[in-house]
Amino acid sequence: MSGARSVLIIGAGHAGGVLVRTLRDEGYDGCITLLGDERWLPYERPPLSKGLLLGRQSPADTMLHDAAWYKAAAITLGIGQPVAAIGAGFARLSDGSELAADTVVLATGASPRRMRVPGAHLANVVYLRSIDDALAIRGLLGAGRRIAIVGAGLLGLEAAAAARVAGADVTVIEAADGALRRVLPRIVADHVVGLHRARGVTFLFDTTVARFEGAKAVERLVLSNGATVASDLAIVAIGAVPNEALARNAGLAVDDGILVDQHCRTSLPSVYAVGDVTQHYNPWAGRRWRLESWQNAQNQARACAQVILGRRHAYAEVPWSWTDQYDTNVQFAGLLSDDLQLVRRGHEDGSFTILALQGRTLVGVVGVNRPRDVREARSLIGTRSRFHAEQLTDHRRPLHAALVA
Ligand SMILES: Cc1cc2nc3c(=O)[nH]c(=O)nc-3n(C[C@H](O)[C@H](O)[C@H](O)COP(=O)(O)OP(=O)(O)OC[C@H]3O[C@@H](n4cnc5c(N)ncnc54)[C@H](O)[C@@H]3O)c2cc1C
Repeated sequence: MSGARSVLIIGAGHAGGVLVRTLRDEGYDGCITLLGDERWLPYERPPLSKGLLLGRQSPADTMLHDAAWYKAAAITLGIGQPVAAIGAGFARLSDGSELAADTVVLATGASPRRMRVPGAHLANVVYLRSIDDALAIRGLLGAGRRIAIVGAGLLGLEAAAAARVAGADVTVIEAADGALRRVLPRIVADHVVGLHRARGVTFLFDTTVARFEGAKAVERLVLSNGATVASDLAIVAIGAVPNEALARNAGLAVDDGILVDQHCRTSLPSVYAVGDVTQHYNPWAGRRWRLESWQNAQNQARACAQVILGRRHAYAEVPWSWTDQYDTNVQFAGLLSDDLQLVRRGHEDGSFTILALQGRTLVGVVGVNRPRDVREARSLIGTRSRFHAEQLTDHRRPLHAALVA
């Protein structure tokens, strides 16, 4: 066990919550303090754009633990307490009070990238990051509402699906020439767009928003081509930026996220960082990566707990994530790009898997309603397995039957 007798975690979100749980599960008996600026106990965010928006889940369903668990685990919780500054061994709260600890962990996550165009301040121009955001949006969805979604990434399309299921008229506006351009190969992205179009969603690609107009609340969007889209609600989902100001002000190395190694160590001794806010070295990819995913929040936090406990644990995983839209589940892992060789395995029920090869090496996978394929492929990606591409197309043969001997 390391000599850390007290750990102070800033950011009571998914990664912060998993970190404190893992420390206690693994036998850490020192003082743990968890500070967060939201009014909620640590929770998982994936349901916010899915079950919570659809009204099928409640905030309680998203919580990692209830208040009784933190009490029983002797975690000192500072909920609704923004941290204004940190350094090696201390954090200063916004009321000026200071807390000291042997080890400080930054788990401050990311914030939605804001629109900087006229009218962006109008009511009903909204972002989706927190439970409060999701509850507010849910209250504004409904049959016949005109909803504009700005950004055709994962979050924007999940919001579009929820809005459509609620009976709203939905228009998605995207600056790129297609949806999900930063995440998925075009063949899969086009399939997802097709799901939306079949349900009546309108897509405007190669289009940006010049301004929002309305008296108090948004009434219309004026687009770069001069066209207008009438709208009662605009959900802006144009990416997120890491909450790295505390780290930058403390002199830590940052570059689109707090720089950490595979042991979650920042450039300052005894200060660690985990989750969306980090730009971590990923040994599998052999490069730095800033991931915004459930897996990264969960498993980087677990790895960090091990390191704090003095165990030389490396965070080294093949990145994996998913999205749920309507009745379709898309899971994806590894490297994915249209520049790779993409092999399609189709099934009679319309589900399919895309395998991405670099030479003969499997480097990425996407499964459209094929979670089992993705699970199998993930471990084969991790071991850099090599395949006969021409034998991968036959879905009746298991993936490993196409391995290069
Ligand atoms: C709507 C939505 C849907 C998603 N769906 C998926 C999905 O389907 N699949 C998937 O893999 N990933 C999904 N993600 C991504 C995933 O939820 C995030 O990657 C994960 O929540 C990151 O965890 P984190 O702990 O790093 O950050 P967060 O969970 O954001 O926690 C950071 C916390 O720190 C707080 N904080 C920031 N600054 C301070 C400060 N100065 N003082 C105190 N507290 C502070 C923040 O308010 C926040 O509560 C989704 C994200 C969102 C927003």
